[in-house]
Amino acid sequence: MNEYDSNRILELTKKINFFSTSDVNEADCYVLNTCHIREKATEKVYHHIGRIKKKFKDKKKPIVIIAGCVAQAEGEVLLKKEKYIDAVIGPQSYHEINNIILEKNKAKNLKVNKTEFDVIRKFDELNLIKNRENKVSSFLTIQEGCDKFCKFCVVPYTRGPEHSRSFSEVINEADQLIENGTKEIILLGQNVNAYNYKGKKISDLIYELNKKTKLERIRYTTSHPNDFSDDLVEAHRDCKKLMPILHLPIQSGSSYILKKMNRNHTREEYFKILDKLLKVNSSMKFSSDFIIAYPGETQDDFEKTISLIKKVKFINSYSYIYSERPGTPAAKLKKINEDVAKERLVKFQIIANEIKKNYRQGLVNSFVKVLFENKSKDKNSYFGRDEYFNSVMVKSSSNLCGLIKNVKVKDWTHNTLYGELNDASKPKEFAA
Ligand code: SF4
Repeated sequence: MNEYDSNRILELTKKINFFSTSDVNEADCYVLNTCHIREKATEKVYHHIGRIKKKFKDKKKPIVIIAGCVAQAEGEVLLKKEKYIDAVIGPQSYHEINNIILEKNKAKNLKVNKTEFDVIRKFDELNLIKNRENKVSSFLTIQEGCDKFCKFCVVPYTRGPEHSRSFSEVINEADQLIENGTKEIILLGQNVNAYNYKGKKISDLIYELNKKTKLERIRYTTSHPNDFSDDLVEAHRDCKKLMPILHLPIQSGSSYILKKMNRNHTREEYFKILDKLLKVNSSMKFSSDFIIAYPGETQDDFEKTISLIKKVKFINSYSYIYSERPGTPAAKLKKINEDVAKERLVKFQIIANEIKKNYRQGLVNSFVKVLFENKSKDKNSYFGRDEYFNSVMVKSSSNLCGLIKNVKVKDWTHNTLYGELNDASKPKEFAA
């Protein structure tokens, strides 16, 4: 989502003749768009500012703006502690960036803190600018914020309450992207399947996008089990352009821990969703997020997480030891012994990697359908993704960007599949 937001910030600043530069030394304005989901986010901001200070030691100071969730959560502290920062803008206020830059140019000592949850006005402003992104695969924000208040998470405090963009605005932006050459749209939201605009749901968007002749693939992320309604399951049955992979975070395999996290669903309810999806589309595969050693997690709870990953065989499992976020209810809970936590993470990752290894090994000599996105730095190699979002590299002397090709997998690493083009493969044509 930050990548999407950064591109929108750039489109906005173009209106006042501020363009991106690959040479930071010539920048008049430096925008650091931040994420607060991981540890030490604030320290990283100070570290970056330190580097910028050094670069501009003997030059005119650029305007320095901290955007995103760290700005939202720690804005006032950042402004007080680091005088080099001129402005902080929360993720729902970045439509104000041009005013800030123009004001700042007039008043050198001005300090600005914009951290309102002004999401309606933000989307109104964004609808007025064209999305000029011309990538083969593009993000499209349809929903922001979260009302779920999982006890460990800062998002409801940094991104604010759930808000869905209007159905027509989303489709208009999708049309722009397709016109610019986009072949794959990834619908984005903190709780993307909580999308609800006057009764229109994410499934309605997917059915509508599925009709777009020049669009080849649709994905969405990140969804929540509690919002996984049957209409979305049916979209996986009906919409051939909707890819058969679902990233559905569960965080723990223990219903007791899920309750303590305020996830509001059980392990069994999670399994039910996956079963329904497999029933309508047997080629579905899954990935998930896990918090290991959440406060109160017993060895038995942890073993339930292990049994869950063994049962589902996630093709990707993203795991982290629990670390507290300031201001969240879980931050007050007693943490689990560090050595025990590390031991559990290691065990989890060994098993998760074994599952992933078996999956990848099983792909060798099979064919995957790859949408190619760009040429790699290594000449004549092209990068793309298969239907399951696996990164794939192939060598080719002809330009593959924007094409879907059948690729025979020859080798694999943890992050990439390596393959060769199947000579008989032709660019895939999709019917509306
Ligand atoms: S649903 Fe996701 S974004 Fe919302 S509070 Fe829980 S973890 Fe955070």
